[in-house]
Amino acid sequence: MIPSLRVSVWSACNLSCSYCHKEGNPHPGRHLSDEEILQLILAALPAGVLKVKITGGEPLLRPKVIDLLAQIIRRGINVSLTTNGTRLSLWAQELREIKLKKVGVSLDTLHPDRLQRLCGVDAMTSILRGIYAARDVGLPLELNTVLMRGVNEDEWEELIGFAEKMHASLQFIELSPATQSEKFYECHHIGLDPIERVLQERGEVLESVHHPSDRARYRLYGVEVSLCRSTPKDSDGGIRRRGLRLSADGKVYGFDYRQSCLLDLGAAYRAGIRGNDLTQLWVQASSIHQISQN
Ligand code: SF4
Repeated sequence: MIPSLRVSVWSACNLSCSYCHKEGNPHPGRHLSDEEILQLILAALPAGVLKVKITGGEPLLRPKVIDLLAQIIRRGINVSLTTNGTRLSLWAQELREIKLKKVGVSLDTLHPDRLQRLCGVDAMTSILRGIYAARDVGLPLELNTVLMRGVNEDEWEELIGFAEKMHASLQFIELSPATQSEKFYECHHIGLDPIERVLQERGEVLESVHHPSDRARYRLYGVEVSLCRSTPKDSDGGIRRRGLRLSADGKVYGFDYRQSCLLDLGAAYRAGIRGNDLTQLWVQASSIHQISQN
């Protein structure tokens, strides 16, 4: 019913990317405690959640985040993490030790000046240090690149070469219209079709697309490359494959960052709702989302 769940554990970020969508929740309320996050995730499991992706803002800014992740992983849940990489070198070893399934690191460019223009901070050294640290400790690694016209569209091959050296997979992501700046989207949006044509001609197809929200996967130069389109709507309501999001302040959203909150599960938990009643709220959020997509 809810195959995947994105859980934001920290709304703030130390970068300021031009395309940031702030998870569709730019002014979050009080952050959930570790216990609240854990209990809300556990309540989602009977609703069909198979894997949990931890996100932010920047999740590695959350105090004691490793303890929180370890608690979730100990419950047998498949947990991955997406990060901007700037603090990854501090935690790579521990993330490996707690058996994190995968770390996804945003890397839009290998050019420090481009990165600084894009995210407002001179962050290349710390990001690369994080990526090298993840590789060196054997943490399963995926690099995430938002492809943008006039920014990094000329770098895709270089990025695949870098992923090969890092023993990483690489995901090219289509710029989302939910970015905070409409003008940025209009100037820099580029579809993924041209890159897919090259991958089809020169690479090996690992997984082709049967559904609008599936991710096509190829192998090129020994690197697994997937394409993540900013699909606005799926034929079955965007639920089956894409799941739901839990914000840092406990609200549930769909995967479309422009949508409003479906339910406030943090408030429900604080009001004393537990166990199966909490699970039923996840099911309800999923149904509301499905109806709103049809
Ligand atoms: S790293 Fe992610 S959360 Fe941080 S500003 Fe960039 S897009 Fe937003």
